[in-house]
Amino acid sequence: MIPAQFDYVAPGSLDEALSALRSGGEDAKVLAGGHSLLPLMKLRLAAPSLLVDLRKVPGLAGIQRENGTIRIGAMTRHVDVVNGGLGLVSEAASTIADPQVRHRGTLGGSLAHGDPASDMPAVLLAYEGSVTIRGDVGQRECAAADLFQDFLTTAVGDGEILTEIRMPAMDGYGFGYHKFNRRQEDWAMVAACALVKKGADGSCEDVRIGLTHMGSTPLRATAAEQALRGKPLDAQSIAAAAEQAAEGTDPPADLNASADYKRHLARVLTRRALEDASS
Ligand SMILES: Cc1cc2nc3c(=O)[nH]c(=O)nc-3n(C[C@H](O)[C@H](O)[C@H](O)COP(=O)(O)OP(=O)(O)OC[C@H]3O[C@@H](n4cnc5c(N)ncnc54)[C@H](O)[C@@H]3O)c2cc1C
Repeated sequence: MIPAQFDYVAPGSLDEALSALRSGGEDAKVLAGGHSLLPLMKLRLAAPSLLVDLRKVPGLAGIQRENGTIRIGAMTRHVDVVNGGLGLVSEAASTIADPQVRHRGTLGGSLAHGDPASDMPAVLLAYEGSVTIRGDVGQRECAAADLFQDFLTTAVGDGEILTEIRMPAMDGYGFGYHKFNRRQEDWAMVAACALVKKGADGSCEDVRIGLTHMGSTPLRATAAEQALRGKPLDAQSIAAAAEQAAEGTDPPADLNASADYKRHLARVLTRRALEDASS
């Protein structure tokens, strides 16, 4: 439970942080809330030679809305997202672990880390949001669909800092979030989020479904989305669409659940999330 020795800096600006990362090379790591990185270091599954703490870098935390877009600073803590009145985003963040983790962990940290069992990556995917990534040679926008590349692997490269998350406000969409775990504060065995827009005739004009822990990255349940789009938002259509939620997924079996049980959970949780989003 004692990490390997490391150096630590807490720069006062983004440029200084990028410069520290550059001088630390590939063994330097960004430190945000520390609630994924520090456990890995204590278990000696990670041994960075330098931690670059972002907590003193100004301008990286906060939530802003402008012209139908929500902008969230990478260092915004889960608890501030919960209290931010952001619909599905706040609802999903409220299910993360316990108050201690929510008061230290950050949205940017969760997305840069790319754990497929984390709650927020599938939500960003369902919103079709994007992140801003700063590096030595300027900044780039990365769509959620391109961010999550594999288990604990994202498009945020060595020496880069995720600075901001952008999502459409999704005004007019209902939402639902269902997470299945053994204890309230546990990671998701499986979770499903849904965003539904009702047409004037009560049918499904648009639907987005995100799945957590159903593969090595967060996933969209595209077969279920296609099955519901244009259909009436009644119990029968929702149940029929949710039956397809596990199509194209490859859930990892673990001590909690077999792959088949996870597929069952995906179907049940998707139905419940769609029911909430359509009510
Ligand atoms: C007991 C426990 C239970 C938990 N349960 C849940 C849960 O139910 N659901 C859930 O979603 N999460 C859960 N978490 C994880 C928690 O949400 C973490 O806060 C989150 O995954 C990582 O955020 P962080 O700010 O702590 O990042 P850190 O631990 O500081 O960093 C994680 C990784 O991302 C990198 N990184 C961080 N920020 C940036 C950035 N801005 N730019 C580039 N790279 C960056 C770091 O270098 C590191 O590799 C749990 C954690 C613990 C300890």
